[in-house]
Amino acid sequence: MDRVGGRVNTVPFGDGLVELGAEWIHGTANNRVYETAIANDIDVVNDDTLESEIYMSDGSPGDTQLISELMDFANKVIDDPPPVPEPLGQYVTRRVKEHIKEKYPQIANDTDFIESILFCIQLDTEVYESSNSWNELTTSSHFKDLKGHQGVSWHRHGYKTFFEILLNTYNNGPGYPNLDIALNKEVSRITWPRQPAEDAVVSCSDGSVYRARSVIVTVSLGVLKERHNTLFSAALPSEKTTAIEKMSIGVLGKIILSFEKPWWPKNMTASTFIWKAEDRKSIPKEDIWTSMMSGASFGLGTSNTLTLWLCGDAARLVETLPEDVVKTKSMEILRRFMGRDTDIPEPTAMLRSSWYKNPFTRGSYTYDNLLTPQYPNAREDLGKPLLDSAGNPRVLFAGEATNTQHYATVHGASETGYREAMRLLNNSKKI
Ligand SMILES: Cc1cc2nc3c(=O)[nH]c(=O)nc-3n(C[C@H](O)[C@H](O)[C@H](O)COP(=O)(O)OP(=O)(O)OC[C@H]3O[C@@H](n4cnc5c(N)ncnc54)[C@H](O)[C@@H]3O)c2cc1C
Repeated sequence: MDRVGGRVNTVPFGDGLVELGAEWIHGTANNRVYETAIANDIDVVNDDTLESEIYMSDGSPGDTQLISELMDFANKVIDDPPPVPEPLGQYVTRRVKEHIKEKYPQIANDTDFIESILFCIQLDTEVYESSNSWNELTTSSHFKDLKGHQGVSWHRHGYKTFFEILLNTYNNGPGYPNLDIALNKEVSRITWPRQPAEDAVVSCSDGSVYRARSVIVTVSLGVLKERHNTLFSAALPSEKTTAIEKMSIGVLGKIILSFEKPWWPKNMTASTFIWKAEDRKSIPKEDIWTSMMSGASFGLGTSNTLTLWLCGDAARLVETLPEDVVKTKSMEILRRFMGRDTDIPEPTAMLRSSWYKNPFTRGSYTYDNLLTPQYPNAREDLGKPLLDSAGNPRVLFAGEATNTQHYATVHGASETGYREAMRLLNNSKKI
């Protein structure tokens, strides 16, 4: 692309910076990203203690206590999987219904309310996992949270600061004189050497060719799915192509709106939208995507922007819709949920992500799907290097999808870069 950072993309917007891609540092213990920020005296902010409100689709305030308890329960259930793997949505639905029967018998027959709350938990889960449907997620996920706060924000510094530190350009640093980053350079083929004396050859679509002893490939699973057949010569071994085919990457989308000044309550960091069953049923077919917005967040990088979240097919569709349609419909949703007691003004500008349309990402991040129990080593296989005939690693693989426990995150991606750099360094000592 024309910038570094990949699926981290901080852009100036509103009265500060917004994140079109990764936004939070998840966990503070043994987190390379968090440790990098702290080591450089950056005052990152813990964003998970501030206030979140619940809004209903008819504009009425939700029963925050009840709904929050049910959402917390659903989150706990996700961390308490059944002995036999099953689709996550199916499992959470069953457990939440049992919980309501036991703890709230007075609402156990209110099917409309139960449908509404389950739809909200579904959207929340799908957005978090970036999956198309919560029934495409397995209950036997291999993901491991790092300990500590889960929502640490780079706020007005922006996530881009992590890359400035890595590149030694933070705080007007001089960079690294021998580092040569070629932007706008599309790799079209990587030729994998079999003989120890041969180079690895990287060919680009502008005709340029690079030769090196080793190559580390960090493209997303979406890019590998689309072009692994032409990207590698010789073709990849079958264990790697099986991993590429069986694993999943989802699409998470953001619509970011700026306003003259903030109109939402001070200190609010998120709002959750809950559709009443009859309201959702009345949405015209062409606008169904608007019912897939799980809520809004109010990032700390600006004071006057908010982000609406979408995933799966709805996120994919929004990437293709005309600008004015996305803006008008987004405002209708905001006014429906949050406008009963507030006069919500027109936005001053809008931005939206396009992680699926982008040929250099083709998705947001990976998740463990229903095939994961059948292919438990897929991430490990994806991360294995291609060796020459003497067993030296010559084409190596990093990137979030190759992390067996911390995939879908920036810290996980960063760990894999380190892992492969160490593999090369350790191997070069042997030669
Ligand atoms: C909307 C969204 C929200 C997210 N939120 C969070 C969050 O809050 N916290 C968190 O920790 N993580 C989050 N993530 C996930 C996180 O951004 C990714 O896991 C991580 O950035 C992936 O890094 P990577 O190095 O594996 O891949 P990438 O960042 O995708 O890097 C791959 C690089 O390969 C380049 N490339 C691709 N194809 C070619 C080619 N043919 N030739 C040359 N170069 C090529 C790309 O341009 C890119 O620079 C989010 C992601 C998205 C999209």
